[in-house]
Amino acid sequence: MAKKENTAKALKEKLLMNKENAAKVMSDAELRKCDKFCEGYKKFLDIAKTEREATAFIEQEAIAKGFVKFDRKASYKAGDKVYYVNREKAVILAVIGKEAIENGVNILAAHIDSPRLDLKQNPLYEKDEVGYFKTHYYGGIKKYQWPTVPLSLHGVIVKADGSKITVTIGEDDNDPVFCVSDLLPHLASAQYKRPATELIKGEELNIIIGSRPFKDDEGSELVKLNLMMILNEKYGITEADFLSAELEAVPAFKAKDIGFDRSLVGAYGQDDRVCAYTELMAILGAKSPKRTAVAVLTDKEETGSDGNTGLCSAYLKYFIADLAACFGAEGRTVLSASKCLSADVNAAYDPTFPDVFEKNNSAVLNGGVCVTKYTGSRGKSGTSDASAEFVGEVRALLDKKGVIWQTGELGKIDIGGGGTVAAYIANLDVDTIDVGVPVLSMHAPFEITAKTDVYAAFKAFEAFINA
Ligand code: MN
Ligand code: MN
Repeated sequence: MAKKENTAKALKEKLLMNKENAAKVMSDAELRKCDKFCEGYKKFLDIAKTEREATAFIEQEAIAKGFVKFDRKASYKAGDKVYYVNREKAVILAVIGKEAIENGVNILAAHIDSPRLDLKQNPLYEKDEVGYFKTHYYGGIKKYQWPTVPLSLHGVIVKADGSKITVTIGEDDNDPVFCVSDLLPHLASAQYKRPATELIKGEELNIIIGSRPFKDDEGSELVKLNLMMILNEKYGITEADFLSAELEAVPAFKAKDIGFDRSLVGAYGQDDRVCAYTELMAILGAKSPKRTAVAVLTDKEETGSDGNTGLCSAYLKYFIADLAACFGAEGRTVLSASKCLSADVNAAYDPTFPDVFEKNNSAVLNGGVCVTKYTGSRGKSGTSDASAEFVGEVRALLDKKGVIWQTGELGKIDIGGGGTVAAYIANLDVDTIDVGVPVLSMHAPFEITAKTDVYAAFKAFEAFINA
């Protein structure tokens, strides 16, 4: 009897997949490394809440690590580090490899924009002696999650004379914050009857910014006037300057550990700054890789990647072409031989809401970095679907380097779905696969990741760059 059990055990080990919790597999020393890595990650989440702030941070870190502005007329050699900033909202970093660039480059892609509330072009108004900013939500949010959350404001205001003011208010402990109101439950019986998509409507996401009227005169809209006076004193702006501004309201709270065991990170905008940060740490640490390493940290993923700072634009293609030209090569030759890990978050299996997941093909917290062969919705619509050959290559690499990884689809078939930038990079004739960190409460003001998964993503990107 005992012998038979042993046979089954041995066969199971040989033939069946064995999914283990990363936090169980990792040694205490490794777990401490995950925790330490996430201290830096949490700082990044607090400093870089918008694409512009992330871009500024990444540029600063890159310069500190010896990266120089890319010059298409210059000549480069192995080990040289360059960066390119696209309109203050996207960055490309590259470390020149030892191999000829015609052999292709290894691309890491992630996005640095996150769902939020953007101010409308004409945002300032007063209603019944309360001052407000009108917003237009950015990306796919559950609108009902955003009222009663303390918000900070980030962005730029371009004045008529062309000068630009950078705004960050609500982050410092002494700063005021802003907030969207919600109806008290006592009076919400009619609101409760609305479908959840309209529990809070887009035009109800109005941010409260003040309530005291201008005192020394009589007339209408004195709260608005008083607020405009404060804004004029602080920033030197008039109401018309909002017309040429980009102001984004995001949750004001800081990144925190979650749980008695501090195993999870809770923060705004982990989609996809978790992949942006891990990617950044991987490429900043690259010494002299075999193949040229490229990291693209892009904007506009959450609205479909259109626009000149999103990956549907030609900026990545142009950069690769310019880099290729520095070595007398053609951009298309380089792209066709290139490989890409398109790093974006995936849905973590949520034990509270198991019905939308197919458990065998879902990523779990503490399961390691998630490799996703295809995304999309319905019949794989909008996916790039990585080839078995490329999946095999990535699988072998991760196993060889001891990276803890798992696979996962975004939920059950036909329940929903979603896409990433993978398809746009694959469309450039690049072998591309989705790789990323599983997230709970994705697109909510406070998203959750596991520290072991964050660290596993870093290890995966490090392995890919140095492959
Ligand atoms: Mn994303
Ligand atoms: Mn997203």
